[in-house]
Amino acid sequence: MSIAENVAAIRRRMAEAARAAGRAPEEILLCAATKMNDAERVRQAVAAGVDCCGENRVQELTEKQPLGAYEGRPVHFIGHLQTNKVNKVVGKVDLIQSVDRLELLEAVNRTALRLGVRQEILLEVNVGAEPQKGGFSCEQTLALAGQMGQFPGVFLRGLMAIPPISEKKGDNCKYFAKMRNLFIDIDGKKYDNVSMVCLSMGMSDDFEDAIAEGSTMIRIGTAIFGARHYN
Ligand SMILES: *Cc1c(COP(=O)(O)O)cnc(C)c1O
Repeated sequence: MSIAENVAAIRRRMAEAARAAGRAPEEILLCAATKMNDAERVRQAVAAGVDCCGENRVQELTEKQPLGAYEGRPVHFIGHLQTNKVNKVVGKVDLIQSVDRLELLEAVNRTALRLGVRQEILLEVNVGAEPQKGGFSCEQTLALAGQMGQFPGVFLRGLMAIPPISEKKGDNCKYFAKMRNLFIDIDGKKYDNVSMVCLSMGMSDDFEDAIAEGSTMIRIGTAIFGARHYN
């Protein structure tokens, strides 16, 4: 299957999952998780109509962006970001989805102020409370959202989560539901410097469940590009 055929198939499944949940298909955006795919393959995904691209590694972003890989679509950063590489990402991407610790939030804010830009971000939530994973707890996320006025270099646009690897289909619904509740909670507070528009959750194996539970952006790698070959 070509990248274009894969994107079309995902669009059909997205629409079906949205309808089943009583939602409009246009409410949910498709982010191509482009890690380990070169600029030409990323361009094919863009041409096939994905809504945005998400890069995991600073080096891949830095290599592919000058080649016009994302041209015509927003590009997001979705991977672990080291504080010493923040200056290579802030102002260069439309959204940093993976702000997963206070030190990173402070570094992004500082860099954005220095550059005179306002960087849109999501807070990454460790919704499964997994010790090996980054991200804020739900309680920390709620508290931090209330303090966003102290970070004028950024603009909080929503939340992102990668739930635990599930054993069987449907296992992640409870985590997705927890994220939706947190998202609605924060939205209702009308906090300063916060506009909850993006709830980024759902990947190749579980995006239909994520849509059923309120996701507004799914991040898809394997189902668009095929299996990744790590060496
Ligand atoms: C790789 C990746 C994805 C996509 O995963 P697939 O299972 O291949 O669809 C989504 N989000 C993040 C943060 C990723 O690193």
